[in-house]
Amino acid sequence: MSDNNLHIAVIGSGGAAMAAALKAAERGARITLIEKGTIGGTCVNIGCVPSKILIRAAHIAHLRSESPFDDGLSAKSPEVNRPALLAQQQNLVDELRDAKYEGILRDHPAITVLQGEARFIDAHSLSVKLNDGGEQAVHFDRALIGTGARPALPPVSGLVDTPYLTSTSALVLDEVPRRMIVIGASVVAVELAQAFARLGSKVTMLARSRLLSREDPMVGDAVEAAFRREGIEVFKQTEASRVDYRDNEFVVDTNAGTLRADQLLVATGRAPNTETLNLASIGVESKGGAVLVDEHLQTTVRGIYAAGDCTNQPQFVYVAAAGGSRAAVNMTGGDATLDLSAMPAVIFIDPQVATAGLTEAEAVRQGFNVETRSLDLGNVPRALVNFDSRGFIKMVAERGSGRLLGVQAVAGEAGELIQTAVMALRARMTVQEIGDELFPYLTMVEGLKLCAQTFSKDVKQLSCCAG
Ligand SMILES: Cc1cc2nc3c(=O)[nH]c(=O)nc-3n(C[C@H](O)[C@H](O)[C@H](O)COP(=O)(O)OP(=O)(O)OC[C@H]3O[C@@H](n4cnc5c(N)ncnc54)[C@H](O)[C@@H]3O)c2cc1C
Repeated sequence: MSDNNLHIAVIGSGGAAMAAALKAAERGARITLIEKGTIGGTCVNIGCVPSKILIRAAHIAHLRSESPFDDGLSAKSPEVNRPALLAQQQNLVDELRDAKYEGILRDHPAITVLQGEARFIDAHSLSVKLNDGGEQAVHFDRALIGTGARPALPPVSGLVDTPYLTSTSALVLDEVPRRMIVIGASVVAVELAQAFARLGSKVTMLARSRLLSREDPMVGDAVEAAFRREGIEVFKQTEASRVDYRDNEFVVDTNAGTLRADQLLVATGRAPNTETLNLASIGVESKGGAVLVDEHLQTTVRGIYAAGDCTNQPQFVYVAAAGGSRAAVNMTGGDATLDLSAMPAVIFIDPQVATAGLTEAEAVRQGFNVETRSLDLGNVPRALVNFDSRGFIKMVAERGSGRLLGVQAVAGEAGELIQTAVMALRARMTVQEIGDELFPYLTMVEGLKLCAQTFSKDVKQLSCCAG
C-alpha cells in the first residue's frame, strides 16, 4: 500500500484509466485524471455499448423477417425506424456513462478530474491544455497512459476528401443506407457489416485477404458462408485503390472492379492515440504508435505505466481494465502482472465467433506437437433443436498429454460458452477430463464436452446425452 502523499496522474477516462484510478485510490493514492474528450472513452460512448445495442436490434429485425421456424410461425420484415432505435441506443449509453464513469468520478474524494489534453514535459510532469482555455502543469510521482486508439485510415487515394464513415459515425447514422461498402474484414468491420445488412442495407465487404484473417482459417470460411447466405457480398483479396464521392454516391475503384454505394464504412483497425504525448522525448518507447509495456504494464521509463488500446496489447475493454488495475497495484508498491495466455475474445456476429488460448498455427509456432479436432455443430443437440447448425467447435490439444491449448468456436451464442474453455485452460485440463465432466444437456456449451470426446471416440456413436 502507498502512503497518502503518492500522487498519480492518469491520462484518459476509458476502461484502462478508470480501473487504474479507482484501484490506485483504493490503495491510498491521490489521483489527477485528465480527459480531453467525453468522460468514459471508447467502450461506453462509441464502442462496445452502442455497437452491441445496434447489433441486438439488427438480430431481432433478422429473426422477425426470417427464422428456421417460418413454416409454422409467420415472418414479416419489420419497418425500421432508425431515429427511434438511435434514441434508445443513446439513452442507454448516457445512462451507463453516468452510472459507471461520470457519477463515480463526480463523488470521489481522492480523484480530481481535469478536462483537457495532456502531454509530458518530463518523467514527472505533464502540461494540460485545458478545454476551457489555459494550461496547467501537473507534477506526479507516477503516471498511467490510458489514451486509447482511434479508427486508422488506409492510404487510399481520394478517401480523405470524401464523407466516409468510421465506426464512430456509422453507429450514430440516423438512417439505414440502401447500399454500404465496408473496407476492412476484422472485428469491427464484420460486426457492423452484418448489423447494417440485417437492418436493410445491401452490404459489400472488401477484404485485403479474407474475413477475420488473424483467426484460424476455418473461422473466416464459416463466417463468409454465413454472410453470403444473408446476401452480404464478400470480395476477398480485394483492395480499394481510389475513392470518389460524386452525386451523393461513393465510387470505389478496386482490383475487382468499380463499386458504388450510398455510404462507405472504413474499418481497417485502430491507431493508438500517442503522437501528441511527447513520449519519445522522455524516453517512453513505442512501436507503430503503440506504447511498449512489460508484464507489469510499465513502459520503458520507470514510474510511467500504460494500459489499454494505446499499448501493444489486444484491444478489448476487459484487457484495458485488467491492465489499468494491475498497473495501479504496481504504481502503489504492489506486484501484479497481466497474463493473457487464456484470454477470451468474442466477435458479436451471428453465428458468434469466440476464441481462447492458442490456434493450431500459434501452438505449432510455439513448438507444441498438437492434435486437433473440429466438431460440426450438426452434432450438438442444442444446435439441432434450434434448427441452426451453422458453425463448429475446434479444440487444439497437446499430443500425448491431451492438455487443452486452445478453442475456436463459431456458433450461436459462442460467447457464452468460451469462458468455460478459459477455465479449462487455466486449470490445465486435458481433453479427456473435459469429456468426462457433466455438462447440461441441450446447452451450446455441451459442444465443448462433445468436441473433447472426439479425441477418443466417434461422436456419432454416442448415446443422446454423451455421458
Ligand atoms: C465499434 C467498437 C466496438 C467494440 N466492441 C467491443 C466489445 O464488444 N468488447 C470489448 O471488449 N471491446 C470492444 N471494443 C474495444 C474497446 O472499446 C476498447 O478496447 C476499449 O474501450 C479501450 O479502452 P482504453 O481505456 O484503452 O481507451 P479509450 O476508452 O479509448 O479511452 C482513452 C481516452 O483517452 C482520452 N485521451 C486520448 N489522448 C489524450 C490526451 N493526450 N489527454 C487527455 N485525454 C486523452 C480519449 O479522449 C479517450 O477518452 C470495441 C471498439 C469499437 C471501436
